[in-house]
Amino acid sequence: MYQSPTRTFARIGATPPSTPPASVVLGRAVVLGGSLAGLLAARVLAEHAESVLILDRDDLGALAGPRSGVPQGSQVHVLLPAGREQFERWFPGFSAQALADGACLITADARRSYLDGRRKVRGSDVDMLSASRPFLEALVRRRTLELPNVKLLRARVTGLDVDGTAVSAVRYESATGPGVEAADFVVDAMGRSSRLGDWLEQGGWERPPMRRMIINLNYATAEFRRSEKNPEATAALAISSPTASGDVAGVAFSAIEDDRWMVMLGGYGDSRPGHDVDDLVRRCREDFPAEFARVVDNEVLGPVQTYRQADSRRRDFHRLKRVPAGLVVVGDAVASFNPIYGQGMSSAALHASCLSAYLRSDPDPRRPARTFFALQRVVVDAAWGMSTSADLARPSVSGPRPRGYRLSRWVADQIVAASVTDPTIARRFDDVVQMRRHPNSLATPGTLARAVRVNRADRR
Ligand SMILES: Cc1cc2nc3c(=O)[nH]c(=O)nc-3n(C[C@H](O)[C@H](O)[C@H](O)COP(=O)(O)OP(=O)(O)OC[C@H]3O[C@@H](n4cnc5c(N)ncnc54)[C@H](O)[C@@H]3O)c2cc1C
Repeated sequence: MYQSPTRTFARIGATPPSTPPASVVLGRAVVLGGSLAGLLAARVLAEHAESVLILDRDDLGALAGPRSGVPQGSQVHVLLPAGREQFERWFPGFSAQALADGACLITADARRSYLDGRRKVRGSDVDMLSASRPFLEALVRRRTLELPNVKLLRARVTGLDVDGTAVSAVRYESATGPGVEAADFVVDAMGRSSRLGDWLEQGGWERPPMRRMIINLNYATAEFRRSEKNPEATAALAISSPTASGDVAGVAFSAIEDDRWMVMLGGYGDSRPGHDVDDLVRRCREDFPAEFARVVDNEVLGPVQTYRQADSRRRDFHRLKRVPAGLVVVGDAVASFNPIYGQGMSSAALHASCLSAYLRSDPDPRRPARTFFALQRVVVDAAWGMSTSADLARPSVSGPRPRGYRLSRWVADQIVAASVTDPTIARRFDDVVQMRRHPNSLATPGTLARAVRVNRADRR
């Protein structure tokens, strides 16, 4: 039975906490990549497989800080409300544990949001969680590896074996040499550079079509000591509208564990914030609202870390005519977006919830996981639509533009503008930006009419 993307999205996000499934349907599940998406998928699989093995090329056991397999780990990361809800669903008590270990709660009162220098009204009341990316991953890893049937092995995955129509094994290189791990079910969670497409093609299967949008985004992040016990704002984001002069993407700060602030400066194209901490401090003092100056007046801790991301990209597994049974893909390996919108970790958590819905639907493991890819597509479309529609408005982004772009751009412009001053629109807009509702939920006549009215009144 057809269900609209808005309803499907709500169903994926709202499914109640798990009661144990009726039966274990899989034998050995192997997860390729032990970062956030892989760990969340392993958590779900632990309910459906006799055993789950996670393979990662990094030495995860020893790590508590940034690592080479996740080069973005030293940049600002905020877990949006949708992600927080899903983390809580898969690891009950997650937020309380994170807060006890030092993470910070970003309540509605303690966050600031600016568009072109104008402070936005308070929107969503839902709290966010702020911590460094390695901190969040370490906690998710700890909770996942507590499950008795989940194990982790340090190994670089080198290929996939398909026996007839279904995956049968994973090949890898480990400290003891090459190895082969038999698998009934395989999850690719190897991030945006995953080579799964190459392996499928080499094995005579189709490579998933890839869509890219060039964004040329440059991040620079520095850490500062947080000395205030109860800072007025624990996180702030100031962004420029796409058509504003200059190609500044935005600036953000957030309070993280161990009494630190993380401060990020982002630019597009030739606007490349560099390693010079004095420059970062000067820009925060001179170009942005007063909260930013207050944060960078603290002692700087360590060098500025830069990161560059050329594109948003998605691999459309749902469009494949032929795909081996027993194979799914999650996290950035499917879609990774302009990071300024902070959707990645929440997307990975929603993909895990799609996997749960698929496995609970009593699927035939000898057939391709098409219903999984169809569900996941709704999540990817939502995040992709949100991030690319904003990026397309930037003069430096050339497309491709989807059909009906001019109209959807006009609608988006009305809603974004009204969200600055109108609390009702701000709340609805936040629900979408924070991935708690599908973007189509904004495209109702009532919301649009209200936005147009608000904008007219504001102009007067
Ligand atoms: C600058 C920046 C800022 C961001 N800010 C936010 C934010 O505020 N909020 C948010 O939600 N998201 C943010 N993101 C996105 C977020 O970082 C990612 O979406 C998230 O980390 C995706 O996790 P993943 O597990 O899919 O992939 P990754 O974290 O990329 O992990 C891939 C894993 O696969 C392993 N691997 C790769 N190849 C192999 C192999 N051959 N064999 C074995 N292991 C392999 C790697 O070691 C790694 O552990 C940001 C991203 C960037 C770039």
